[in-house]
Amino acid sequence: MIQTQYRTRCLLPRTERPVREVTLITAAMFAGKTTELLERCFRHQLAGRTVRLLKPVTDDRYSASHVVSHRGLRVECETIERIGRLDGADVFGIDEVNLLPPFTDEALDAAARGVTVIAAGLMRDAEGVPFETTLQLAGIADEVVTLYAVCRCGSMRATHTLRKCAGGPRIQVGGAELYEPACRACWDLAMENRREPA
Ligand SMILES: [Zn+2]
Repeated sequence: MIQTQYRTRCLLPRTERPVREVTLITAAMFAGKTTELLERCFRHQLAGRTVRLLKPVTDDRYSASHVVSHRGLRVECETIERIGRLDGADVFGIDEVNLLPPFTDEALDAAARGVTVIAAGLMRDAEGVPFETTLQLAGIADEVVTLYAVCRCGSMRATHTLRKCAGGPRIQVGGAELYEPACRACWDLAMENRREPA
């Protein structure tokens, strides 16, 4: 039997131990990232923790002052341009992190102080290129939750976001009128068709 020779002892009584975790919830669009984020925030509230909900000021698709999920959940939040010191709550829920400048230092600092950070965001843009902020968070997170949307072909592993019309800027905030989820095969095919000369 293998025995652990050195074991790190927790110095705090179990009930007083802070959660100190960084979680990233990531996926393509329409996979339920915001629903999962809100659900996790609700659970922390039920456990008696204070929660602050943040989102980028540029995300004004469905509301300027609320986090709104595609499943119809709607919770008031603070809007921000960038992440500063994450202070004043036990838990921070941050939506659409791909629209924010990278904040790994701030997330790690928060975790070191016993604050839980739950970030939700797209992993890649409509061209398939990873978003720097999401990528960096994936590198430091204790937990990375990958969710999947449903592709029009019936695949339940839609990992990509397809822009309905070719072109456009990298950051183009929109919903179902602009984007749809696609599995890799459908996304590859659509991108291939777009690259072919007319
Ligand atoms: Zn498909």
